[in-house]
Formats: sequence, structure tokens, C-alpha cells
Amino acid sequence: MMNRLNGKTAIVTGGARGMGESHVRRFIEEGAQVVLIDRLAEAGDALVKQLGSASRFVQADVTDPSEWARAVEFTESEFGAVDVLVNNAGILVNHHLADASLEDYERTVRVNQVGTFLGMQAVIPSMRRAGRGSIVNIGSTAGLVGFPSCFAYVATKWAVRGMTKAAALELAAHNIRVNAVHPGDVETEMTAKQRSNGEITTEGIALGRFGDAAEITNTVLFLASDESSYITGADLAVDGGFTVS
Ligand code: NAD
Repeated sequence: MMNRLNGKTAIVTGGARGMGESHVRRFIEEGAQVVLIDRLAEAGDALVKQLGSASRFVQADVTDPSEWARAVEFTESEFGAVDVLVNNAGILVNHHLADASLEDYERTVRVNQVGTFLGMQAVIPSMRRAGRGSIVNIGSTAGLVGFPSCFAYVATKWAVRGMTKAAALELAAHNIRVNAVHPGDVETEMTAKQRSNGEITTEGIALGRFGDAAEITNTVLFLASDESSYITGADLAVDGGFTVS
């Protein structure tokens, strides 16, 4: 057991599986108390059962402000003020600009962009009361460069970067830091189909391989912890060098 987040209370969205689950597990190993928010009731319940008393699951949709209010209130009553928020919940829809439906576009904006906005807004009073906080927004290499076949996803991940920088400036006076982590290709359910049909390959990745969720978690952990106390408004690509050239 290490203690890089000792005594801290964290909320991780999309924490029931994939990279979010990896963040939750590691945060607990590092001494945090974690509330994970997800739509997936079964997976969320099963995970907290495994993790024990330092974790709680709130089934909620990050696009709904009233569910955010409920989740933050619950977190405060169980574990005290929120120190860390990881806005990790996200969806990927495959479509091209030419045929993207407005419905798919708006659905992606609601989860990836509005969800991140609402999450940051919801934790501000708690972090202000505590006099500190660290928010980590999960973007993507799709927020650093353009990609074909996922038009709305690219748009929302660029938005995450802008929101991160604007929030970092507004919240610095309250000792709340806001940073963005941009994963490259990591093997999760989100991209399983594209990897198996050859749409996503290791081509162009300088390190020549996909990333492991644990490698993204290392960076999220660093930004969540006090080790990054002088970093705010930053974009950190964790992509094996994909966006370097
Ligand atoms: P995933 O699909 O395995 O996990 C996403 C989680 O978010 C799921 O548990 C899902 O139920 C939850 N979620 C989705 N919509 C939600 C909502 N409205 N409310 C609450 N929970 C919701 O995907 P992942 O690969 O672990 O993705 C995590 C983050 O990393 C996402 O923001 C994604 O865009 C980003 N990302 C992933 C990759 C990759 O290669 N997998 C690359 C770059 C960025």
C-alpha cells in the first residue's frame, strides 16, 4: 500500500470499467476514498464490493445536473469534501461529417463535453470549502489532432482542452488545479471493434504499441496528487509519441 493520495476523497466518472476502473483501483491503493459514478449498475456494484470500504458506487448519468448534485452530496456525507475529480466518462460514435446525425452529434456533446462541464461545476463548492482541489479531465489524442470517422468525438475532445484551460484560470485563486490527460490508443471496450477490424493499428505510434490503462492511470494519479502542485491548465499526451510528428 502506497500513500500518494492518502486521506483524499476522489470522484471518478465512468469508473465501472476500462480506464476509469484502473484509476479507481489505483487511487484506492494510494490511500484515497473513491466514489465512482457510472451508468453501468452491475459493473459498478461489483467493483465496489471487491474494493471494500474505501469505495462507493453512485449510478448516475453525467449529463444530468441533478444527478451530479446528488453524487457530490453523497460523497461529502460519506467521505467529506471532494479533493479530486476525474472526468473520465466518455462515448465514441463512429461517423463522418457528411453523414453524422444531429442526434449522434448531440449525444456525444452531452456526455463528453456537457458531462465534463457539469462535473467541474458540481465540485467547485466542495473544493472551495476545502481550500484545495485537483480536477483531471480526460481528453484524447483526438483533442490534439484531427481524426477521420469520429467527427463529434474530435469536436468534444478539443472542447475538453478549452474548458480545462478556462477553468484552470478561473479556479487558480481557490487553489483548485485543472489539467487534461490525452490518452492514445488503449485497449478497452470503447475501441475493441475498431482494433479487431483493423481500423485502429499501431501505425504512427512512435513507441510501436498500444498503451496500457495503467500507464494512463500513472499520469492521472500524478496530476491528482500533490506531486503536481505547480501544474495547472496543462495538456499531457500519454500516447506513445503518436502526436509528436
Ligand atoms: P469505456 O467505454 O471502457 O469506459 C467508459 C465508461 O464511461 C463506461 O463505464 C461507461 O458506462 C461510462 N459512461 C459513458 N457514458 C456515461 C454517462 N453518460 N454517465 C456516466 N457514465 C458514463 O472507455 P475507456 O476507453 O475506458 O474510456 C475512458 C475515457 O478515455 C473516455 O473519456 C475516452 O473518450 C477516453 N479515451 C479512450 C481512448 C481509448 O483508446 N480507449 C483513447 C483516448 C481517450
